[in-house]
Amino acid sequence: MEPLGHAIFSRDGFWLLQILDIAIVAFVVRAVIRSVWRTPAMVVVTAFTGILLAGALLKRVFPDLHAVGFLLENLTGVLFLTTIVIFHEDIRNILAEQGYRLSRKLRSRTAWTGRDTVEAIVDACVHLRRRRLGALMVIERNEVLDSYYREGLELDRLPVVPELVVSMMQPPGPLHDGALVIRNDRLVRASTFLPLAEYTRFKMKLGARHRAALGLAERSDAVVVVVSEESGDFRIAHEGQLDGPHSEEILREELLRLTGNE
Ligand code: ATP
Ligand code: MG
Repeated sequence: MEPLGHAIFSRDGFWLLQILDIAIVAFVVRAVIRSVWRTPAMVVVTAFTGILLAGALLKRVFPDLHAVGFLLENLTGVLFLTTIVIFHEDIRNILAEQGYRLSRKLRSRTAWTGRDTVEAIVDACVHLRRRRLGALMVIERNEVLDSYYREGLELDRLPVVPELVVSMMQPPGPLHDGALVIRNDRLVRASTFLPLAEYTRFKMKLGARHRAALGLAERSDAVVVVVSEESGDFRIAHEGQLDGPHSEEILREELLRLTGNE
């Protein structure tokens, strides 16, 4: 094998290829790590990578270990295929998510939640407070967050209408627990569970609903609206912080601003 330094300083331009080579590998490794980060697949991918690296190291130190070499050669393909088979659903989700992200990046910010939807959300919040009901509503912005949602029901892009939101949040209805998700002016998921914020990160004592709002806002660019069942307070979690309590007017102003309408 040619030493890297030699090729880089040679005059035939081959070093450009080597830089490209390294850049492609770095890009793939980064994409894989970002995709599996904090998912169950991470443990398996780490374990498989560890096995392959340990084997490769052993073979390099002891080149005469032919059986290890044979195992290694065949194991790589098998582990690769096993990973794909075990995680085919996650891989599909990851690809769909990356596709969405890319298409959103290519489009303009106007794809975010519009003014009418914000009005409908605020209206729903006011009705919910009047009925002493709590709620958690995720408004997605650029990032599609399917990998964070646990359980719940996928909806076929229902319109955001206050009456619908309030009736969904009404116990003992099967969808009243958990969060609603709004993407591109449509309800796309109901009764879903969000990751919780770390206990140590905030001073005030928060219940699970508020911790869930903060948990998603810490991990993504989503705006999460909370209506407290206990106090009737409106709060907004975004960019890792939980604001409020807000009046109806401030809730509207803040949501319009955060959804790119102001
Ligand atoms: P509230 O002020 O409304 O009582 P809270 O912050 O005190 O809110 P809890 O009383 O602990 O929250 O939980 C209220 C509701 O929040 C639960 O019944 C459930 O519907 C919802 N919730 C709890 N955890 C999550 C979660 N991880 N993701 C989504 N929703 C959740
Ligand atoms: Mg509570």
